[in-house]
Amino acid sequence: MHRLTTAAGRQRLRRIGVVLAVAAALAGFFWALPEPDDERLAPPAPGFVVRDVRLFDGEHVVERATVVVRAGRITEAGPGVAVPPDLQVVEGRGRTLMPGLIDAHVHTWGDALAETLNFGVTTVLDMFSDPGPARVLRRSREALAPRAHADLFSAGWLATAPRGHGAQFGLPVPTLGTPGEASAWVDARLAEGSDYIKIVYEPRDANGLGAPFPSLDRATMAALIAATQARGRLAMVHVSRLVAAHEALEAGADGLVHVHADRVADAALVQLARERGAFVTPTLAVIAGFDPTPPATAGEARENQRFAADPAVRPYLTPDQRRGLENSAGTKLVMFRLDTALASVRALHEGGVDILAGSDAPNPGTAHGASLHHELELLVRAGLTPIEALRAATSVPARRFDLADRGRIAPGQRADLLLVAGDPTTDIRATRAIERIWKNGAGVERRRYPEAP
Ligand SMILES: [Zn+2]
Repeated sequence: MHRLTTAAGRQRLRRIGVVLAVAAALAGFFWALPEPDDERLAPPAPGFVVRDVRLFDGEHVVERATVVVRAGRITEAGPGVAVPPDLQVVEGRGRTLMPGLIDAHVHTWGDALAETLNFGVTTVLDMFSDPGPARVLRRSREALAPRAHADLFSAGWLATAPRGHGAQFGLPVPTLGTPGEASAWVDARLAEGSDYIKIVYEPRDANGLGAPFPSLDRATMAALIAATQARGRLAMVHVSRLVAAHEALEAGADGLVHVHADRVADAALVQLARERGAFVTPTLAVIAGFDPTPPATAGEARENQRFAADPAVRPYLTPDQRRGLENSAGTKLVMFRLDTALASVRALHEGGVDILAGSDAPNPGTAHGASLHHELELLVRAGLTPIEALRAATSVPARRFDLADRGRIAPGQRADLLLVAGDPTTDIRATRAIERIWKNGAGVERRRYPEAP
């Protein structure tokens, strides 16, 4: 979201911008190196079986099931499955096995994909970053070799106006200004390897109020959506206000990648989203970080700081990730109210609109991987059942983004798996009690980061 308008906020934004530019430059350096083929082409892990486990298969819960993995893929899953004698057995009793999680809104650079996997998030849908790394990682995400990082799908550069939101970080974002440029702009992104298109739409209202950045006009936003869909790809729109959400949906957006947070969604917006079949990725975790509301009592931790203190989360955060989560002092922007955003998600969900879990990491108040678990808790607070929240991070994004081989536990699916203690289908916070992570059927060694005493 990166939206700050106060003087202090602008200063903070400039500091963040500098950090991002340096990080991006470093990332460009490391990612300029081609991925070694021996990692991509290494043989898949032989396999294992998880016996007598509570299974959340991406859609439904089976109280006692057995899941067999061979050569990086799930071969059998269900209540009547026999344990093959040749495979290592993992006891599932008292635990829940679910698909590796999908974060539907991140920005990737540096060690992001390793940090992401450390929390059981096995796939990310990037909504704006340098397209170079995605080009390299596109080949490896199809492979079944064991790997130490999450798979990346990416929008690459975002569509924004000159000096618009997203163009402030010192990255060479190709901007545009008129509807006539839309087709060539989309073609250039697809030629760079973008999997889908992300559009920033932050118009000012009739009183001249709104975002501090210039925005694409309505006609250009609509032309980008049309050009993207004409090429068979998804067009997502970043909005932060109700009026922009309405206009983006009227223009045919496939999805909104934030829930607007200035006013609660009205019946007309819910109806429009449902009729058009659009999805919404609310990114409540980042809105909580930006919320200007002070804690009820002085000295009380803010929402994101409370999450960072969770003993099931904290030991696995890098020092930078801890700082990122605690760097959520809020802004002066009244439009970023978590309770308003929660009420909108409730209305959209009750209206039958697909909700996707996305964290917007690594914005202030968030951390790669970890914050998706926070987002799941916030989605339940917004009225999703724990099972609906889990679907929002597994089968729903897989269906909406056409990811045929992930997001579910079924024969033929990629063996991206998460084994947790307890039952997240009744207590969503149990997703953090991670016991095992598998990527492509190979065990992932979780990294801990001890804090200085
Ligand atoms: Zn974002």
